[in-house]
Amino acid sequence: MTTTVTIPQNLLPRDGRFGSGPSRIREDQATVLYQSWRSPLGTSHRQDGVKDIVASIRRELAALFNLPEGYEVVLGNGGASQFFDIACACLIERKAAFGVCGSFSEKFAKEAQDAPFLEEPVIFRKDYGEAAVPEFTEGVDAYCWPHNETSTGVMCPVTRVPGSKEAGALTIIDATSCAGALPVDISQTDAYFFSPQKAMGAEGGLWVAILSPAAIARAEAVENSATLDGATRWVPAMLSLTKAIKNSRKNQTLNTPAIATLILMNEQLKWINANGGLDWAVARSRQSSNILYSWANASDYATPFVPEGPARSTCVVTVNLDDDVPASEVLGHLRANGIVDCNGYRALGLNQLRIGVFPSVDPADVEALTHCIDYVVKEMKAQA
Ligand SMILES: *Cc1c(COP(=O)(O)O)cnc(C)c1O
Repeated sequence: MTTTVTIPQNLLPRDGRFGSGPSRIREDQATVLYQSWRSPLGTSHRQDGVKDIVASIRRELAALFNLPEGYEVVLGNGGASQFFDIACACLIERKAAFGVCGSFSEKFAKEAQDAPFLEEPVIFRKDYGEAAVPEFTEGVDAYCWPHNETSTGVMCPVTRVPGSKEAGALTIIDATSCAGALPVDISQTDAYFFSPQKAMGAEGGLWVAILSPAAIARAEAVENSATLDGATRWVPAMLSLTKAIKNSRKNQTLNTPAIATLILMNEQLKWINANGGLDWAVARSRQSSNILYSWANASDYATPFVPEGPARSTCVVTVNLDDDVPASEVLGHLRANGIVDCNGYRALGLNQLRIGVFPSVDPADVEALTHCIDYVVKEMKAQA
């Protein structure tokens, strides 16, 4: 039986939250939330108090992503997982192609496999730790892949599959754990979707999608055809993208949103844009990830999971530990000292740490984290 390691105070980060989602929420955001307790918290989402916040979110996102002409910010309830189903219900016409390289991209593809009105999707699968992007395939009308596979810490390029646009196909990107932390050219996408509890430093429950005019037109066409006599496709109201678009244009959501989530997200967007926008946020995450990868490279018991190169994520960092350093024990000691959520993704089953270094995370805290891990491992070895 090992005794819990006590990390010296002077080594500890100021904030011990390093989760990949839910992720760190800054104190300034929580302060605004508290100041909102009489209004707009607890007031109608159909009135100006809440609608103004939704309008601000849509404006700030348009600025953050430098939206091309005609692109729209659309939102609704249910998180990114809900958007998997919205894409299947309203954006994929008949057949999709998926890049799959981890748990989240697998889940998205599974929804399309299970949808009875869609043809069997084409899956382009890569090993954990590698990036996956679908290849041009005849008859495919939607190409789908993750920008950042959160389960493995892998980034995939966001560039249209050559020939796909000319063939009238959409590009649908799951950007849940990187929207606001990785660079992106939105014109390379038709739907760039995410939920706010990761790089956006807010709470879960909401989905946001940046939609191109082609995606909006596709949703209208698919939903119209689903209402024709003899149609085999049913688009439930909660999965209707055209209903979400109509509501978003009025700065509302189809059904009641968590107002606290909207407030937190709005504050985060204002903070990022005031500090220099996406370039600034990207650089801050990259600085934090560099600290971790350099530490792991120099360590005699830790190794970056993803080889150096374009696939190695700069916002979700995965690090393998040697077999004689069980991650579960390291995590237990860290947690006892207030350093939380550095665990690897369960389904991968690797002896691994996974650290979310989103813009809310101070690189100085990341530096401190490396010293804390080293301290814990040194003490574990001394006890052994
Ligand atoms: C977290 C995550 C999801 C699921 O998000 P929810 O808001 O929990 O539905 C989907 N895709 C990726 C890449 C994620 O990181």
